[in-house]
Amino acid sequence: MATMKAARWYAAKDIRVEDAQIPTPNDDQVKIEVKFAGICGSDLHEYTHGPQLIPTEKPYPLNGHKGVTTLGHEFSGVVVETGKNVTNIKKGDRVTVEPIFRNPESPFIATGEYNLSEPLGFVGLTANGAFANYVVVEDYMVHKMPDKMTFEQGAIVEPAAVAAYAIRQSGMKMGDTVFIVGAGPIGLLTVQVAVATGASQIFVSDLSENRLKKAKEVGATQTFDARDKDIPQKIKEMTGFGVDIFIDAAGVQASFDTGINSLRNGGTAILVALFGKKVTHDALNHTLRELTIKGTAAYRNIFPQTIALINSGRLPVEKLITSVISLDEIVEKGFKALTQDPSEVKILVDINR
Ligand SMILES: [Zn+2]
Repeated sequence: MATMKAARWYAAKDIRVEDAQIPTPNDDQVKIEVKFAGICGSDLHEYTHGPQLIPTEKPYPLNGHKGVTTLGHEFSGVVVETGKNVTNIKKGDRVTVEPIFRNPESPFIATGEYNLSEPLGFVGLTANGAFANYVVVEDYMVHKMPDKMTFEQGAIVEPAAVAAYAIRQSGMKMGDTVFIVGAGPIGLLTVQVAVATGASQIFVSDLSENRLKKAKEVGATQTFDARDKDIPQKIKEMTGFGVDIFIDAAGVQASFDTGINSLRNGGTAILVALFGKKVTHDALNHTLRELTIKGTAAYRNIFPQTIALINSGRLPVEKLITSVISLDEIVEKGFKALTQDPSEVKILVDINR
């Protein structure tokens, strides 16, 4: 058995870097030699209190995967092998991966809304992922990278697509004002996309001073300590009547309330965070102020635009990289660092280091 190194999840607080079998692609799959892979908030959740999306009881229906799982769904690499039905990509291509599974039997494939097909699943959660030398993915997930895009940038396309999709679904227009609550990687990427889209004022709140500093660096025009009770009033003073768009990248009652109260009448809220608990919601206020409240589930049909924008230099996602580590260091300098050190934003694993 040919083996490789992989960071495998066994249970919460139990991720082991160990030898694993090198995967082989089936007729419709692509095998990728991984270059860089980013640690995501959802990986962190699996580490601190998983399983959340990892199937431990029932296998994931689309591929039968269950139990011990190699994490990693934000990555770049080089194609080393393709199945015999694969035509969209070839050996030697530099690629990044859109890791969301599509159920071919779902009615949402025909509508083009493939991110709504059920059951929801991702490479690196419901299949083995990219914290390893090799990963096998479905052919429809693979996107070629432009020649001048770096593998580091390629590993950030996935979370950048989450942010780009949130902004697209908000309907943001040039000159609009936006309030982003939560300055983790997704919140900060959303700031960058808002800059690229032409927002006139970008407000950001977070509990961490470090992250607010980072938000300013990447384009926030004004930041707030999330504990400040007067945020909605201050935002109304600075905008005249409230922001056009509120993006919830924190996902708790307080962030939801602060954001909704900071919106202009007729404004749009985008819920991009994965809320851990139910929130209460004033439906009458929603109606009388004609608010639009929308959820965004990962992304769809936006990887090509995200790749092009990063490649143009107008979405400098590499500014969010705070550490590059080796696979052997992934627990200590990756997962533990992200839970303990608020100055960390995006940590990339250099698989060949
Ligand atoms: Zn992610």
